[in-house]
Amino acid sequence: MESVLVSACLRGVPCRFDGRAKAAAEVDAVLAGRAVVPFCPEAAGGLPTPRRPAELVGGDGHDVLDGTARVVDDTGRDVTAAFVDGAHRALAKARATGCAEAVLMPRSPSCGCGAVYDGSFSGELVPGDGVTAALLERNGVAVRRAPGV
Ligand code: SF4
Repeated sequence: MESVLVSACLRGVPCRFDGRAKAAAEVDAVLAGRAVVPFCPEAAGGLPTPRRPAELVGGDGHDVLDGTARVVDDTGRDVTAAFVDGAHRALAKARATGCAEAVLMPRSPSCGCGAVYDGSFSGELVPGDGVTAALLERNGVAVRRAPGV
């Protein structure tokens, strides 16, 4: 059976920064018939739950991987290292479980695909990918924004 990596918060795991999960019937439909591998890169990177919200500053996840942008929480704490570590752990998990695709939570600084918050903590979105989405994409894992959430 084909395996697919999925943001753990979309599978009922309460690992979001606010200690909650996020679910939608549309996500379940996309995953139907496949072996689901839930994974939370922020938890895997060593961040606690709940935690302060964080956003990408100075660029998107690709820029973080290139060392030209950072991930900062709303207190100003730099959490870049944890986000990058979590991304590498997500890639390792995808490889170990044979996932060629990842279905990821939209807008997250880790899991977001195509749009992320702009770093001002004002709810504004800009084009770009989260750190994990960027690393997966760079390593041949197809990333897909989860529908309905
Ligand atoms: Fe969900 Fe990804 Fe955020 Fe973890 S890092 S809570 S899996 S969006």
